[in-house]
Amino acid sequence: MTAPTTNGVANGHSNGVTNGNAVNGNGVANGDAHHHDIESKRFATRAVHAGFTHDPITGAVIAPISLSTTYAQPKVGVPTGIYEYSRSANPNRDQFEQAVASLEGAKYGLAFSSGSATTAVVLQSLPQNSHVISVSDVYGGTHRYFTKVAAAHNVQVTFAGNIELDVEALIQENTKLIWIETPSNPTLSLVDIAAVSAVAKKHNIIVVVDNTFMSPYVQTPLEHGADIVVHSVTKYINGHSDVVMGVAALNDDTLAERLRFLQNAIGAVPSAFDSWLAHRGLKTLHLRARQASENAALVAAALEASELVSLVNYPGLDSHPQRKIALKQHRKNSHGGMLSFRVKAGGAAARKFCEETKIFTLAESLGGVESLCEIPAAMTHAGIPVEQREAVGVFDDLVRLSCGIEDGEDLVEDVLGALARCSKQ
Ligand SMILES: *Cc1c(COP(=O)(O)O)cnc(C)c1O
Repeated sequence: MTAPTTNGVANGHSNGVTNGNAVNGNGVANGDAHHHDIESKRFATRAVHAGFTHDPITGAVIAPISLSTTYAQPKVGVPTGIYEYSRSANPNRDQFEQAVASLEGAKYGLAFSSGSATTAVVLQSLPQNSHVISVSDVYGGTHRYFTKVAAAHNVQVTFAGNIELDVEALIQENTKLIWIETPSNPTLSLVDIAAVSAVAKKHNIIVVVDNTFMSPYVQTPLEHGADIVVHSVTKYINGHSDVVMGVAALNDDTLAERLRFLQNAIGAVPSAFDSWLAHRGLKTLHLRARQASENAALVAAALEASELVSLVNYPGLDSHPQRKIALKQHRKNSHGGMLSFRVKAGGAAARKFCEETKIFTLAESLGGVESLCEIPAAMTHAGIPVEQREAVGVFDDLVRLSCGIEDGEDLVEDVLGALARCSKQ
């Protein structure tokens, strides 16, 4: 299938305005003045309105779900609107992509069937024999792709323990990409995006930031010099633990065209229904991310004050070793809903903690409206050898929390209650 526009970029507009050419459910550009104005508005307004205004034919304020896989052509090779075949582009995916682009301050958004598919497509965009530098503390699935899949087209990845210090020395002639995840999972250590991007720029290397843990409400990496921002939409952007999806956002025309080509060629695309659901979730991102941040700050403070806890990792605490980066890189007073802490009574007590909570559910994943807890050493990070994970602070007694949007005081009570019960001998 050919892509819907001659340059192969479905939502790239010559005027450089991300959604200045937004489309409605009928594939007809509605480009009204009202929509144009949205881009100059603040985050919450863009979250609610970017990507779709109202349907000019029916007046529907919520986009119809456009399930058609194909589109009628009145003449051979002349589509009715801008759509031809749903893998190449469809209205709901376009709307979602434009909304994410708007929130990340990007020109282009590209949605994929998962965060992992997004990572795979970004890596597939590199030429054979490329070299990649990555932070060592990446998401497990990203690590797996880097070490077990990328080599299939001779892409080699070097992991950096301290990327700000090591990046310059690790650059090779064929280094094409630097991969950052900040905060890291599950110890919430931070990377200074601007510092790494400045080095990368000198060498013409693309910087990718996995912004899943923060969401664009808390952190917008492109503003700090990154070239591509990626998300597991499964987490904060969708936010309701009912969609698996991914997205990339970027400004560079050539890079966007390449990724758009691969999106269609590889075909790891989200369904129209999932795109619609994720767009619906995104409209309340600011409210959810704000509440989750507020709740995590309350829980982190309560844990830090507890004698039953030996360490709390949360970028919102003054005790965080990279607090300065947090203040520079995150939205004021918002550091996300993720935190981790060590239970003084040990690994068995930490496991018991996760079984004792009444509101926090013991489960993997994060970023939903509901609070979750887990033991990284036994669950999300179980595949990493013991010495390797302990070297980055993932001990058996470490608990990871994803604070949801419940009442913060209830979350504090839940955590302190479970902590008291699990620490009893
Ligand atoms: C979950 C996650 C991913 C992978 O996303 P999926 O949607 O599960 O494929 C990538 N990066 C981070 C930081 C994640 O938390």
